[in-house]
Amino acid sequence: MRLVILGGGESGVGTAILGKKKGYEVFVSDFGKIKGNYKEVLLINGIAWEEGKHTDDLILNADVVMKSPGIPDKSPIVQKLLNKGISVVSEIEFAAPFTDAVIIGITGSNGKTTTTMLTHHLLKSAGLNVGLGGNIGKSFAWQIADNKYDSYVLELSSFQLDGIKKFKPHIAIITNISPDHLDRYDYKYENYIDAKFRITMNQTEDDYLIYDADDEAINEWFMTHTTKAKLIPFSLTKIFNEGAYIKNNKMEIKINQEEFKMDTEHIALEGKHNIKNAMAATSVAKLMQIRKATIRESLSNFQGVEHRLEKVLKIQNVQYINDSKATNVNATFFALDSMNTPTVWIVGGVDKGNDYNELMSLVREKVKAIICLGVDNKKIIDVFGNVVDMMIEVSNMNDAVKMAQRLSEKGDTVLLSPACASFDLFENYEDRGNQFKQAIKNL
Ligand code: ADP
Repeated sequence: MRLVILGGGESGVGTAILGKKKGYEVFVSDFGKIKGNYKEVLLINGIAWEEGKHTDDLILNADVVMKSPGIPDKSPIVQKLLNKGISVVSEIEFAAPFTDAVIIGITGSNGKTTTTMLTHHLLKSAGLNVGLGGNIGKSFAWQIADNKYDSYVLELSSFQLDGIKKFKPHIAIITNISPDHLDRYDYKYENYIDAKFRITMNQTEDDYLIYDADDEAINEWFMTHTTKAKLIPFSLTKIFNEGAYIKNNKMEIKINQEEFKMDTEHIALEGKHNIKNAMAATSVAKLMQIRKATIRESLSNFQGVEHRLEKVLKIQNVQYINDSKATNVNATFFALDSMNTPTVWIVGGVDKGNDYNELMSLVREKVKAIICLGVDNKKIIDVFGNVVDMMIEVSNMNDAVKMAQRLSEKGDTVLLSPACASFDLFENYEDRGNQFKQAIKNL
């Protein structure tokens, strides 16, 4: 069997290693450049590859093709493969049949990484031999090749899910859904929603789907679709016979006749959105029969993930918070919602069709000054220009942070939560967050 892999990154090279181990003839083709250390790995494992091109003759003779999530279905090489009837799948689809491990799959528009890391933390703290993969860290396929774990917590993007046919997680989470990546879905929101729900399409009566029951798009989907999986809803406003909810300031989880309760203020992560993430992760822990004391301790000591509402430094009693990963309005909504003191808000970047009006009441209530940092400032200025006292445009992160210092007073918060993509002024959101942190240290 000939396995061709499009894209020589982490998931591509991981799949190549797994394929080779399972007896496939493997070929990796990358239209860009393959990173040096990956080339070495391919070489050591005797795997053939090409870069800077896709050679039809070496690709169109495949029995199965694994495509990296970054390559759109519309790209010419994928179209040629599909026209020839060759199966094009994602890494998880290819790799999952080679393991008996319990798979927990986490998707959604926001909160995937946080919920994945928290779930992994809960299970690992309980002593489970559990791996972490998907969009995070070492590729799932690579870990399967190394045959390391009894269970996996996987962060799954909609692109990973687009490429599944039979894959099913035993436990699935949909954290929430709001418009994102619509350029890959013919600008149709319903296509993107359907992509997220692919996570449950192969689940059976023995599997579970944990989901945000406060989410409009999710609730609408359920009006016209079903899943065989057992449903575990979570909500900040509703109460369930079976599910996760808030009662008397406590997070309560009721699953299989068993109850778990915990004061929300003992959860280390801050913000309402993180209570939801904690509800989803705790539901998994309950399904995996983790002891209550272990869950409590793990929720109270999980310190969060870098670039997500990350507390950087307090200078002259002003708290600086890095939320660079907020690349859409919904993420920024929850960031502003969790601010407890007057806030100087650094916002902007590449607009993805944002509707800033959703933030209006929070901005009125909490924001004293706005610093616009990005190519698409006009919309932000139009929406909030008359709402806040101070509105300033800057062109680099150093100026943004210096200006924020000038505009803030004792007791205030300076929040970087851009609601936009970062590639106008930065390499990626990590670069943006790191520049923010460096600029603060320079103050
Ligand atoms: P993802 O992996 O889905 O991008 P992250 O955990 O990296 O999610 O968080 C991305 C951004 O969304 C951060 O700014 C974070 O503070 C915010 N966020 C985290 N969880 C949620 C949630 N449940 N709902 C809305 N925003 C969230």
